[in-house]
Amino acid sequence: MKELVVISGKGGAGKTSITASLVVLAGKSVIVDADVDAADMHLVLPLKETCKFPFEAGFAAVLDTSKCTECGYCREVCQFSAINEKYEIDHILCEGCGVCAHFCPSGAISMQLKTCGDWFVSETPFGTMMHARLFPGEESSGLLVSRLRQEARARAEAGAIDLCITDGPPGIGCPVIASITGASLVLAVAEPTISGIHDVKRVKELAGFFRIPVVLCINKSGLNPEIETEFRKWAAVNKVPVVGEIPYDSDVTAAMMAGKTIVQHSGGKPSRAISLLWEELKASLELGGV
Ligand code: SF4
Ligand code: SF4
Repeated sequence: MKELVVISGKGGAGKTSITASLVVLAGKSVIVDADVDAADMHLVLPLKETCKFPFEAGFAAVLDTSKCTECGYCREVCQFSAINEKYEIDHILCEGCGVCAHFCPSGAISMQLKTCGDWFVSETPFGTMMHARLFPGEESSGLLVSRLRQEARARAEAGAIDLCITDGPPGIGCPVIASITGASLVLAVAEPTISGIHDVKRVKELAGFFRIPVVLCINKSGLNPEIETEFRKWAAVNKVPVVGEIPYDSDVTAAMMAGKTIVQHSGGKPSRAISLLWEELKASLELGGV
C-alpha cells in the first residue's frame, strides 16, 4: 500500500482543493483528512458518515464534591489556576498534571481520560474517508492524526486497496510530522511567493529528516513569473522534482463556490493541469494500475 501525503508550509496554498481532485482522479483510495484543526475536505467531497468514535487523549482532573472538605489545598498547588473558588475545575485550563489529585488529603480528585474530539469513518464515491473534529482548545492533534492514519491503513489492507491519500495539516509542527512519518511520498503544494519558497524549504527539510521523498506542485502559477523561475532553480538544485504547475484561474474559485472538486467542475486549464499532476504522481508512486 502506498501513501501519498499532501502538505503545504502554511494554510491557504490550495492544498485541499488539489488533494480532493487527486482523490477523484484516483477513483478508489482510502482518504484521510488529517487537517483535524480545520477539516474541510467534506466541503467538496460528498460523504455519508457511517461511524463516529470519541477521541480520548490525556487526562483531566475530576472532583468528587461529596468527598471534598474545601480545604483549598488543590487550588494552592495547581500551577494553571484551573480550580476556581467554588472548587470547579476548568477543563480548558487543566493540563492534566495530576498534582491536585496527588496532594488532595481527602482523595476527592481523580484523573480521568479526557475526550478531546470525535473521529469519523465516512463513505465517499471515491473511497472510505477518515476525518475528525478536535474540540476547541484541545491540542492533541498529532495523536489524532496518527489515529486516523492507523485506521486508514487497516481499512486499506482489509479492502485490498493499494493507495491512501492524505490531506495533511498546514505548517511543520507535530500534526504534520504525524501525517508524514512512514509515508511513501510527500507532495508539497506552494504558491509562487517568497514565503511559498520559504515554506517549501522547511517542508523539504522536515521530510528529508524522515527520509521521505518530496515532490513539488506550484499552485497559482503565472502569478509571479520571476519568483517561479527562482522556485524552479531552487527545486533543481535541491533535487525536488516539480511534478505539477496549476495555473491561476477563476475556474478554481468557481469550483469552490459550487462545492465541487476542480476536476469535476470543469475541464479548464487547472483541471487539465491537475490531471497531468496525477499522472506524474502515479509514476512517482509506481501505481501504474490505479
Ligand atoms: S484538596 Fe481535596 S479536599 Fe481540599 S479543596 Fe481540593 S478537592 Fe477539596
Ligand atoms: S490536574 Fe494539574 S492542572 Fe489540572 S487541576 Fe489538577 S493541578 Fe491543576
